[in-house]
Amino acid sequence: MYFSLPTEYREAGIEELKERITAVRERLGSRLCILTHHYQRMEVVEFGDRVGDSYALSKIAAGQKETETIVFCGVHFMAESAEILTAEHQNVFLPNPLAGCPMADMAEMADVLEAWEFLKQFGGEDKIMPISYMNTAAGLKAFTGKYGGLICTSSNADAALKWAFDRREKAFFFPDENLGRNTGKKMGLKPDEMVVWDFSLDNGGLTDEQIDRARIILWKGHCHVHTNFTAEHVDEVRRERPGVKVVVHPECPVEVVDRADASGSTKFIVEYCEKAPSGSVIAIGTEINLINRMAHEHQDKTIIELSGKTCPVCANMYRTTLNDLAHCLENYPDLKRIEVSDSTRRDARLALERMLEVR
Ligand code: SF4
Repeated sequence: MYFSLPTEYREAGIEELKERITAVRERLGSRLCILTHHYQRMEVVEFGDRVGDSYALSKIAAGQKETETIVFCGVHFMAESAEILTAEHQNVFLPNPLAGCPMADMAEMADVLEAWEFLKQFGGEDKIMPISYMNTAAGLKAFTGKYGGLICTSSNADAALKWAFDRREKAFFFPDENLGRNTGKKMGLKPDEMVVWDFSLDNGGLTDEQIDRARIILWKGHCHVHTNFTAEHVDEVRRERPGVKVVVHPECPVEVVDRADASGSTKFIVEYCEKAPSGSVIAIGTEINLINRMAHEHQDKTIIELSGKTCPVCANMYRTTLNDLAHCLENYPDLKRIEVSDSTRRDARLALERMLEVR
């Protein structure tokens, strides 16, 4: 996809952009809702009607019955999910259409269907429940809905797995291996009850015995922002700052989550920072924009990035600027809105609605 911001917006100064964004918001009032993910730049979050993680923002989008236009400052799969959950008269726009998610791209429809076809010999939909992480394209959400499964986010992954195991023997969890593993471990599953389906290998690189024994078949996908953190980073920050609390996102590797004081979704991390007593020192393992915002909002606490040196930025979240937001708000009737075909929407919506019910 090619996208180039018109020169007028590229060259506008910050104050001018803020004035123009404010003017559109005032003119449209409740007909417009700007949703911003926690990983967006601080200046973009300031203009959000709501800020949240992908679970909270989906829920908000689903509840915005009166709003005509939703501008989603996040990445493509999030805006697509909002589009699926909203009504026909509502339109969803992504201010920077190039904002995708590399993790979502690690699960291609054809590869997932090939895996599912193979897994049929182990019971298919009678025994195996598909669970798709929110970070997937709409087609995969539809696949999940069609075979009785649900979408999960890092906010409800425990509840989603429990829901799956109440109904079927095994779960097929994609695309984030770490979230699936960390959640399975928290539920008491042993290492050999979680196997990794490597889509680049025949039969996922697994033997029949491994699949028979497994409770979760994990997809070999990851988020490069969160796999940036290592066990050594945790050990080092504890050595350097005695008394530090370490809180990380469950997309981090299992050995990082194991060493942390707490792990959870971005919402969990935000609340952890809010609740910590004044004077606390907190090292966070997640995207840098959220960490910087937490440090800014809680100046009575010392809030630092866990690795101390790797700058874990999500380049895709960072793509959306005030320039993009101003351009989107002033031109959206002429811009391409997020679209999902009716057949995909029907099944994807089923899976997303199950997500909203399961907590
Ligand atoms: S932080 Fe990771 S999972 Fe989230 S949008 Fe960026 S690449 Fe995707």
